[in-house]
Amino acid sequence: MDPVGVTAAPETGPSPAWQNKCPWGTPKHAAISCSLADVMSEQLAKELQLEEEVVAFPEVVIVAEGPFITGENTDTSSDLMLAQMLQMEFDREYDAQLRREEKKFNGDSKVSISFENYRKMHPYEDSDSSEDEVDWQDTRHDPYRADKPTTTPKKGFIGKGKEITTKHDEVVCGRKNTARMENFGPDFQVGDGIGMDLKLSNQVFNALKQHAYSEERRSARLHEKKEHSTAVKAVDPKTRLLLYKMINAGILETITGCISTGKESVVFHAYGGKMDDKAVPPECALKVFKTTLNEFKNRDKYIKDDYRFKDRFSKLNPRKVIRMWAEKEMHNLTRMQKAGIPCPQVVMLKKHILVMSFIGQDQVPAPKLKEVKLSSEDMKKAYYQILHMMQQLYKECSLVHADLSEYNMLWHEEKVWLIDVSQSVEPTHPHGLEFLFRDCRNVSQFFLKGGVSEALNERELFNAVSSLNIAADNEADFLAEIEALEKTNEDHVQKHGKKSLFSSDGDPPIIYDE
Ligand code: ATP
Ligand code: MN
Repeated sequence: MDPVGVTAAPETGPSPAWQNKCPWGTPKHAAISCSLADVMSEQLAKELQLEEEVVAFPEVVIVAEGPFITGENTDTSSDLMLAQMLQMEFDREYDAQLRREEKKFNGDSKVSISFENYRKMHPYEDSDSSEDEVDWQDTRHDPYRADKPTTTPKKGFIGKGKEITTKHDEVVCGRKNTARMENFGPDFQVGDGIGMDLKLSNQVFNALKQHAYSEERRSARLHEKKEHSTAVKAVDPKTRLLLYKMINAGILETITGCISTGKESVVFHAYGGKMDDKAVPPECALKVFKTTLNEFKNRDKYIKDDYRFKDRFSKLNPRKVIRMWAEKEMHNLTRMQKAGIPCPQVVMLKKHILVMSFIGQDQVPAPKLKEVKLSSEDMKKAYYQILHMMQQLYKECSLVHADLSEYNMLWHEEKVWLIDVSQSVEPTHPHGLEFLFRDCRNVSQFFLKGGVSEALNERELFNAVSSLNIAADNEADFLAEIEALEKTNEDHVQKHGKKSLFSSDGDPPIIYDE
């Protein structure tokens, strides 16, 4: 708008003659007369601009009318602000379109593809450190708060001039740091600071974070070590898989370590879990029978002549024979359990792994009679208990331990417990009575040497257990009589099938799973 034109307008009234004389000259005071026009043009321009903006970006202008441009110190940043507002609006529209595309793309499909990462206004994008971990925690109603302030803005600028709250604000940042502690590893104890108006400085927070991470790594390492220390070292991959399956099924809680590596087996300690809603003993022993073939070769005489296994023995491959050992131990333990003989309780049998209750406490197996130093009173008690157990074993369980010695008897809860019965046989076994005599010799010698003067000698003990009343007064004759008896029995079995002179009901048929 030309101010001269305005001043020259007819409605402004007649001009003095001297002014007309100089067509280029503009009198100095003319500005005063057109000050209204200047003001008008500025306002007009502003109004026009606002009008345009309202049409194009309604939201933006509403925001722009807020504290941003009404503040005292905002005049210099309005261009930048406007540009940012425009960008925000563009992003918002872009994201809305993206959401529509995403919906169209996925339809009713059960598996959906997220376009989240293509969004302009990414929920996590506008944060360089913290908001991706935890959302702002509202502590307004926190009873521990001293100042009870009104709402603290999440971020951004508010109010006039200097009252700007940023994420670098000490109080806000401190509270955020406290809230973010929740994101440390699940096992990291952060105390109840999160519930309070606690403000952690960045330095303290970072130190804690570092500590939490190193704790996590340390515990992972320990866990790994624990796992490797057990099954991994001693057993083959197939066995390891079976052990892991037991843990996965919840039957076992953890396998803590190896108790013994014997000739025929490796024994582990484990904490029990649950099986079919039945409680498994709190502590278990896992007897893993060795699957290397030369280990069991010298033992086949125990099994190949046991009529319970006779029919199957010849048909089985060596691997299955090894499983038979585990099975044999299970059946024998079950029989003993029924008779009330203190022995491990069978939990389950899985191929060549026998799970039973642990005799001992807190991972420490009960000592063998060989290792423990008993008082003479306890020695006497132990002797009579064993005498009784041998009789029960023979008469009620129809079993001969066949490896009975101070190495396979544990002292626990003031009594003797029998273990290691995989080789135990029925007395009708072709060598059953010989095995019994050997057991009697071991027991008798141990207690006589141990100071139990009332202990029977091996021949007396044999007769007390078997009631066979062999009269021979020396070992050679005694053994000869034993062998003669075995021969008679063998002939009887040949004639009358399975039933022997020392009859037994036998065990139920055994079914293998592959
Ligand atoms: P070895 O050749 O040493 O006799 P083995 O292969 O015959 O070993 P076992 O005698 O049954 O196996 O077990 C070996 C050791 O493991 C035992 O001496 C005992 O210390 C421990 N053990 C076995 N079963 C249990 C159990 N149920 N509870 C506690 N400890 C057990
Ligand atoms: Mn043993």
